[in-house]
Amino acid sequence: MSSQISVRFLGAAQNVTGSSYLLEHQDRRVLVDCGLYQERKYRERNWAPFAVDPGSIDAVLLTHAHLDHCGLLPKLVREGFSGPIYCTPATAAITRIVLLDSARIQAEDAEYKRRRHEKEGRSGPYPEEPLYTEEDAERTLPLLRSVSYNAPVPVTGGITASFFEAGHILGSAMIRLEFEGGSGGRSSGERRSIVFSGDIGQWDKPIIEDPTVFTESDYVVMESTYGDRTHEDPGEVEDLVAEAVNTTHRAGGNLLIPSFALERTQEVLYHLNRLLQADRIPHLVVFVDSPMAISVTEVFKDHPELFDDAMQEQVQAGHSPFSFSGLQMTRSVEQSKAINQIRGTSIIIAGSGMCTGGRIKHHLVHNIYRKQSTILFVGYQAEGTLGRQILSGAREVRILGQSWRRNARIRRISGFSAHADQPALLRWLGGLQRPPRKLFLTHGEAEAIRVLAGKIEQEKGWKPLRPEYGQRFELD
Ligand SMILES: [Zn+2]
Ligand SMILES: [Zn+2]
Repeated sequence: MSSQISVRFLGAAQNVTGSSYLLEHQDRRVLVDCGLYQERKYRERNWAPFAVDPGSIDAVLLTHAHLDHCGLLPKLVREGFSGPIYCTPATAAITRIVLLDSARIQAEDAEYKRRRHEKEGRSGPYPEEPLYTEEDAERTLPLLRSVSYNAPVPVTGGITASFFEAGHILGSAMIRLEFEGGSGGRSSGERRSIVFSGDIGQWDKPIIEDPTVFTESDYVVMESTYGDRTHEDPGEVEDLVAEAVNTTHRAGGNLLIPSFALERTQEVLYHLNRLLQADRIPHLVVFVDSPMAISVTEVFKDHPELFDDAMQEQVQAGHSPFSFSGLQMTRSVEQSKAINQIRGTSIIIAGSGMCTGGRIKHHLVHNIYRKQSTILFVGYQAEGTLGRQILSGAREVRILGQSWRRNARIRRISGFSAHADQPALLRWLGGLQRPPRKLFLTHGEAEAIRVLAGKIEQEKGWKPLRPEYGQRFELD
């Protein structure tokens, strides 16, 4: 048997979600990420059996807590995986929240399907059973093992792993694995390394630190989400937030911000806090009306060591964006309902980010027909979602089973992004002092990967590989 190590691309290959890469060395197996597929056309892959017996995997390394990286862990555990799941402490804390929430959604989805099929008099086969249950998620959590940044841990069979700041979301990591290289069935004794970029953040993002740049690596697996795009200037974000707040305040309506619980909500709070400090907006009540966003914000508060300098200064000066005066965290349903009794202007941040569920729908019902109110979108709105419908200017929308006329003002800020754009991806790659033996582009639509590969070839003369789903490569 060859002593060579190989990598198999079990997800995020020519598409964005479902990140999962398997390293194999003789009978040793290490999985990097175990993500859920979120694109509609790949969703059935979530239900397919794993490519290898989960019981045969020695360890999982988790880059960060987004569902497309950690969302299939409870299924892996239910089907026999019982090894350690290494990740940073903040990732462990957020993964807890994310997996329990995901298990609840899986149960709701299955129940919804069951009822619909019952009504239609249909019978199987279809997935009425949830992908996994809260119990499966609960069984996954004790396997999470916290690892500090920049501290190598032995994983299995001579493979060590180190985690580095990725600058993407709180706790996010790039992972470097080191192992013994070899060829022709013999180990050469030479140390080799492979870097998994995970999701690469933008430089100068609020709150967290910048991505780590590597000066060398034998192999690199790199994300390509925005491989074909350049982001708008993020410097304008704060001005646009200020404009939305002030216009709405003058009109006497409410400002609704549909927002994702993880990172985006905290970034919105960061900007509101800075605008308040600078007296650029009036002192209004700000509601974070999402139990999940509140829990994630608690994790941020628990990890000030992960903040960048600007954020550290604010917190030390007593101006934390997570506890300014006027900020109210509404966990209970009663508190949430009470928001709509308030006269005058308030700022309401609520999930879900694309208005597909959650408390934002109730706030929309109370505000969408009012020309005084504003709906401010700060994240991507996928096709087919209520958020997309509102954003595209529909005059009439259905919310919670009723038709509503849209009179509220619509605003959108596109400068928020957790992902590096093409120039930032090239900047990250530019740290490498010599070409890697192999560079794999993953975590992007086929077109984004194609464009990025062309750009890299043109600028550096390297020939990046574009792995297909299930494809395997030897690392010699
Ligand atoms: Zn991510
Ligand atoms: Zn991702």
